[in-house]
Amino acid sequence: MTRVKKCLRGQKKVIPSGVNSPVRAFKSVNGDPLCISRAKGSHFWDIDGNEYIDYVCSWGPLILGHAHPGIVQTVKDVAENGTSFGANCEIEAKIAEKIVDLVPGIEKIRMVSSGTEAAMSAVRLARGYTGRSKIIKFEGCYHGHADSFLSKAGSGAMTFGIPGTPGVTKGTIEDTLDAVYNDLSCIEKIIGQNEDNIAAIIIEPVAGNMGVILPQEGFLEGLRKLADLHGILLIFDEVITGFRVGPGGAQQHYNITPDLTILGKIIGGGLPVGAFGGAKHIMDHLAPDGPVYQAGTLSGNPLALSAGYATLLELEKEGFYEKLEIKASGFFNELRSNFEHYGFQCTAHDIGSMAGFFFQEGPVNNYTEAARSDTELFARYFHGLLDKGIYIAPSQFEAMFVSSAHTGTDLDKTLEIHKEVLKGL
Ligand code: PMP
Repeated sequence: MTRVKKCLRGQKKVIPSGVNSPVRAFKSVNGDPLCISRAKGSHFWDIDGNEYIDYVCSWGPLILGHAHPGIVQTVKDVAENGTSFGANCEIEAKIAEKIVDLVPGIEKIRMVSSGTEAAMSAVRLARGYTGRSKIIKFEGCYHGHADSFLSKAGSGAMTFGIPGTPGVTKGTIEDTLDAVYNDLSCIEKIIGQNEDNIAAIIIEPVAGNMGVILPQEGFLEGLRKLADLHGILLIFDEVITGFRVGPGGAQQHYNITPDLTILGKIIGGGLPVGAFGGAKHIMDHLAPDGPVYQAGTLSGNPLALSAGYATLLELEKEGFYEKLEIKASGFFNELRSNFEHYGFQCTAHDIGSMAGFFFQEGPVNNYTEAARSDTELFARYFHGLLDKGIYIAPSQFEAMFVSSAHTGTDLDKTLEIHKEVLKGL
């Protein structure tokens, strides 16, 4: 497979590392990024005409696959009538009502333009509401790139081994307390040391940015209890898990209701969106009714919300999640048994249509354990797949997604190639 690097050379002159988001650079797998020209369903094509089956799905949003006909038509129709008004439009209420209806912890919601913006705003609201300054976050969880979250963060920060980043002030990061995922005693200790000054515990209820790590039994429940006991708000970042692990997200799956929820990805149907919502009495602290300021020129954008709403309507169709999950879990099980069959130590976690495969014996329940994975072996595995037209995320510490557009033929072909690649590793 040839991949011309012309596009990258041009991009590198004018864009840092040639990419607009770090993990796309393929640095941790010592490769050159793809440059995509078009996509349809479960496949995309690079500018050299190479075809790939895509298991990144734009990092999660594309649960219906690329260029789903209904979403494309919606975007075209809406665009004909204007792309942004900076004033209310009907679709804002429609999608808000739909999300409030489906996500247990959301009584009121505000739309923004990215997951980062949503997470940043939710934390500000939690601070404004409680009058406290510190937050607890978990090592390896990623909540976007706002300053407060760039302490032992997951995703690109973990991929590149960047524990913090220049540009974030000491004062800001002092207010972020890092905890160990799946370890309640660690939280108790932190709360004890910062009595009455913790505004929020923010967590990915299923971690999807240090590979995929599931919450152990009783962990989320324990967080809920500790938060209640100490007047701390519990924030679930469901940017990945929202509408991915089921219509009500991980909070519905595990039956734990957070005070605030952060959403993004799927609710924009592949266009830029984020949202945060929660209990009415907390959300009413937002300006202009309340004192906590938050705003956005393109917030509630009609194109993005219409694409998101059209996506949610598809997800509501009879049996959508059942069908997707049966297909995905069968596929993940096959991948897992192939790893075993060919003698690879691999710890696999999956929930619904998302999965993570760690190149190590395990167990993997937190950041330190995830970081023990064999990233060099992963890089060879990644290129083996890529060269044969299978695209997974270019990092050991990202999730794999199956969409409703992946066909049985796609999955069978992928399994065949997977076996060939493992044989050759
Ligand atoms: N939270 C989580 C859990 C995420 O996975 C991400 C992005 N991958 C974000 C927040 C940030 O979202 P965005 O990239 O849209 O700013």
